[in-house]
Amino acid sequence: MAIVSSITNHSPLPNDKGEERLVSSNLLKDELKLSKQDSLRPKSFDEFVGQAELKKVLEISVKASVKRGEALDHLMLYGPPGLGKTTMALVISEELGVKARMTSAPALERPRDIVGLLINMQPRELIFVDEIHRLNRISQELLYPAMEDRRLDLTVGKGTSSRMRSIELPPFTLVGATTKPAALSSPMRDRFGITQRLDFYTYSDLQNIIKRSANLINLSITEEASQQLARRSRGTPRIANRLIRRVRDYAEVHSSSNIIDVQVVKDALDLHRVDQRGLDATDRSYLGLLVNQYQGGPVGLETLAAALGEDPTTLETVVEPYLMQIGFLQRTARGRVVTPAAEKYYLLSSPNKIC
Ligand code: ADP
Repeated sequence: MAIVSSITNHSPLPNDKGEERLVSSNLLKDELKLSKQDSLRPKSFDEFVGQAELKKVLEISVKASVKRGEALDHLMLYGPPGLGKTTMALVISEELGVKARMTSAPALERPRDIVGLLINMQPRELIFVDEIHRLNRISQELLYPAMEDRRLDLTVGKGTSSRMRSIELPPFTLVGATTKPAALSSPMRDRFGITQRLDFYTYSDLQNIIKRSANLINLSITEEASQQLARRSRGTPRIANRLIRRVRDYAEVHSSSNIIDVQVVKDALDLHRVDQRGLDATDRSYLGLLVNQYQGGPVGLETLAAALGEDPTTLETVVEPYLMQIGFLQRTARGRVVTPAAEKYYLLSSPNKIC
């Protein structure tokens, strides 16, 4: 199906020193241009790996709305970056057989941006708004009647001669994606008929994603090598696909065989300093500080940020979530504490030693 896109901003979230992290779950700068024609994106429910429950719920809703010939209910997808929210929206538009208009909240700052988006829609079309929690109040207020009553309320003219004009809209589906569902206003949240969360992927799902991607880019990879890559992908398909491309680059230069084996994966990711759990130099400095200087904690976020020369928000939103997810870190009322598992892991693995 046709895709109309005006996504402008996917922050790659570089660290404070302006460097981009290979294991960041946000798009890196050089991926921004490619993301619109991402050849690795699944195009159907069958191709979409993992997220079994979410798929089950959405497949039923999509099938029912196709059967009734109606637009799908408005849908909110939430979860960390890189887990497949955009991909799922595109899958749904394919399965519905309708066009997808892709945009993001920062591209909808002025009322005329929203009007431009909603006007001239064909019935049942899908509109995808990324980072929907960032929509400003005026844009949100234009969307409320559009979502609820299929009505666009416009003010025509200026000053005392201004008047309100309502335009009727065809039935449509708004898919909103957010990494911060709590930041959404409650009237906005209430207007979504379906709300679904995407979770981090299991190693076995990631391995399947890696095998599928390898196949699509004509790369042969051994079972063990795909397992190793899966373990280093931080539960995130975007990172898995990025690592596989870096491994391919490495193999093209350094390997005589055209099969990616576990040694090539280890050598390539050693070079990028991504270890066996997907931790990079930033994660290790963070753990090292807690383990070596503060006997494991508790330590306040501000203190850690100052000692590492990082911004506290970067630590909180980019570094810590994965460490917590793998059970290496706890946020307590008294500060950050590393777990015994993290301490053991840190002491056994040095940056250049990948087990
Ligand atoms: P988000 O919108 O949540 O930030 P995307 O939908 O852009 O994430 O997905 C990031 C990348 O991961 C895409 O390039 C896509 O190819 C891949 N991807 C995401 N989810 C899946 C999945 N379930 N199966 C296979 N590939 C996936």
